[in-house]
Formats: sequence, C-alpha cells, structure tokens
Amino acid sequence: MLKDKTGDAIEIMRECNLLVSKTLAEIAGIIRPGVTTLELDRVAEEYILDHGALPGFKGYNGFPGTLCTSVNSQVVHGIPSSYVLKEGDIVSVDCGVKMNGYYGDTAYTYAVGEIAAEVAELLRVTYEALFRGIEHAIVGKRVGDIGYAVQEHAEKAGFSVVREMVGHGLGQSLHEKPEIPNYGRRGKGALLKKGMVLCIEPMINLGGKGIVQENDGWTIRTRDKQPSAHYELAVVVEKDRPDILSTFEYIEEVLINKNKGLPWQNKRP
Ligand code: MG
Ligand code: MG
Repeated sequence: MLKDKTGDAIEIMRECNLLVSKTLAEIAGIIRPGVTTLELDRVAEEYILDHGALPGFKGYNGFPGTLCTSVNSQVVHGIPSSYVLKEGDIVSVDCGVKMNGYYGDTAYTYAVGEIAAEVAELLRVTYEALFRGIEHAIVGKRVGDIGYAVQEHAEKAGFSVVREMVGHGLGQSLHEKPEIPNYGRRGKGALLKKGMVLCIEPMINLGGKGIVQENDGWTIRTRDKQPSAHYELAVVVEKDRPDILSTFEYIEEVLINKNKGLPWQNKRP
C-alpha cells in the first residue's frame, strides 16, 4: 500500500508534474509532419535540464530516451528514433521528470496534421475516459471504481482497453503501489486514501485489446496493428474531489493557437 504523502511531498510533486506539463507544451509547439521523434526527445531533455530537473525515464531500467514516443499502433514505451512523423499519424508522448527526490509523470496523444475521423474519435474517447476515471480518485472509493469508469466509457464507444499495462502510484519512485488498471469492477480493489498520488493513464485501442512487445525490448504495440491512444495525469486522492497535479492546459493553449484545436478536432473532412 502506498503510504500517504505529506503536504510538502505533494507540493514538490505538483512542481514536478507542472514541469512535465510544460515540457509537453514545448512538444506541442514543434510537433508537425517532418519532425523526428528523436528531435522531440532532444527538445524535452534540454527543457527539463534547463529547469533544474532530470529526465525521469532516461536510464530507468535502461530506457534510452527522455520521452516515450509511441506512434499509431504503438501503445506505450516507444523509443525516440529517426522516424519522421507524417500527416495523419498520432503520437503518444509520455514524459517524466525527477526533481527534489520526487517524480512527475504525464502523457498526451497528439495528432500530426489531420487524422482519420475514426482515429480522432479514439483520441476523444480516451481523453474523456481519463477524466471519467479521475472523478473516482476520492477517499473511500476503490481502484476498481476508477477502472470501471474508464472501461465503461471506452467500450461503450466500441473501443478496447489494454489489460497488461496499467496506471500506478507515484512518489519517490516512478512506479509505486497500487496498480491502477483501466478496467475493473465497482467497489473492488485497493481502498483509496487521502494523500495517495496516482497516475491514471488509459491505453485504449481502436481494434482488439491484444498487445505485443517489439524486438527492441521496450515498444508495446497492438497485436492487430490498429491505432492506440494514451493520456495520463497525476492526481492526489482527496476527500471531496481529486487534486490534479499535472495539467493539459499549457499543451492545449499551444494546440488551440496552432491547430484547429484539440487533437480530435484535427480530422479529415
Ligand atoms: Mg507516463
Ligand atoms: Mg505512468
């Protein structure tokens, strides 16, 4: 069981997660057809170091990047590479930092140029599912309440929920207990207590729920090679409503100025 975080620890983690949020806004500013995922990684690493933190993922179990960049059928843990993003791609960019002994961890799936209508719908539903899950991050609820809310929303729209990869507690380690699956049964699983910090991160597939790991030992992709979407926020369990530590506000300010709006609004006519 994750031990409750003191107020000080929460404020440090808020700073960590706001830095991740701002790093992802930098990515929002440069993402376009023609840019490589390695270039996104370079920009993120420089931004994090310039702000007095360390990339949280780089070197974690040997992971080589500052970001996980997962394109189209890649679900999570994609390694930044010379892959050139092209019109119609989607890319989940997952970013972590370590600062003052604590971690931040947040992810956003971007549209590259205009995307197919069904993929736009996948992004919208995954994003909504995240917030449906977050609503249950309150004292007295259980992990299964979060998972149920995410699963119900995704499956109602005809999409499927990745089972093997889950959200997690966050603190002085990047991954702490409890695990937060994106499926579950109401009223089941670990009890949520005040001060627990949770990363809620639905991974939702357009096709089947099956996944495989690629030969690089990291990248997870869908078995049927159909697209997958991923959004993640860090939240503190509170009595009346969750305290969301990271934010998509900075990212979306950039996207609204630059594109037609949020990722799912950038769809082909
Ligand atoms: Mg993450
Ligand atoms: Mg995470």
